[in-house]
Amino acid sequence: MLYIARGEELLRYSFSGAHPMNKTRLESFYRALDESGVKYSVFKPVMASLEELRLFHDEDYIKFVQYASWQGYGYLDYGDTPAYPGVFEAASYVVGTTLGLVKLVLREGCRGFNPMGGLHHAMSSKAGGFCVFNDAAVAIKYLLEREGVRAVAYVDIDAHHGDGVYYEFEEDPRVIFFDIHQDGRTLYPGTGFRYEDGRGAGKGKKLNIPLPPGAGDVEFKNAFDEGLAFLEKHDFDFVLLQCGADGIEGDPLTRLEYSPASHRYAATALRKLAAEKCGGRIVAMGGGGYNPENVARAWMEVVLSLA
Ligand SMILES: [Zn+2]
Repeated sequence: MLYIARGEELLRYSFSGAHPMNKTRLESFYRALDESGVKYSVFKPVMASLEELRLFHDEDYIKFVQYASWQGYGYLDYGDTPAYPGVFEAASYVVGTTLGLVKLVLREGCRGFNPMGGLHHAMSSKAGGFCVFNDAAVAIKYLLEREGVRAVAYVDIDAHHGDGVYYEFEEDPRVIFFDIHQDGRTLYPGTGFRYEDGRGAGKGKKLNIPLPPGAGDVEFKNAFDEGLAFLEKHDFDFVLLQCGADGIEGDPLTRLEYSPASHRYAATALRKLAAEKCGGRIVAMGGGGYNPENVARAWMEVVLSLA
């Protein structure tokens, strides 16, 4: 069974004006989902509690976002991530929804997808790259600290490096991290190099594969197969997939040239791997993607692979 998060609460995570992170992306996906006739169960959005946010985020930062949300203007970082009235609640819904799916999937051994999730640039104490709270990082903390799972596999195919997950868990051997992205020398956030393979106890538990601008499905598949071989060598109890659609050719912010076939390949392979390693437990999170048509096509491939 595949649960897909759906509800107007998720559409509230939307920056105004010409900002690329806006609700037209989700609307485009839900339209495609309805037209496809694919069978799934609706998962109603849930707001994270303060206690849940605190699993990963610093108290001072949570208070800062609450204040900015009440004030309703300005920026949460140096200019990418604006504040607006209600941004705290909107961001808390994204976290609570990913967390709710994780709890459900852990219990039922099913699969889940939060299209608004995957806000992988947020750090424990700061916003970044359109991301206020890091739902993936909160979910990882929850699984490790509250459910006592031994390890979590985090796979990120968004065009941008998942720096908020990588750096915050760089030394943690329980987070098996694999990320394919456009080379940091050519794209925000400028990180995710090959030599970044974990530190301390986390050494060797992370794999970053940067691809040059112009890379397409062939380069993606080669990189993904390397990642699969890396994941095979480790044990984990849960798979999280950040399936950002901004690597699809025609995205306004990046220069990768994948087709949605890359998303199908990744999701299908991970579904198999999860079945083999951890009772099929996998939650996907939408991540980036700023061409609404591409977003719908890429995420539908993920949905069809997981359904
Ligand atoms: Zn991205």
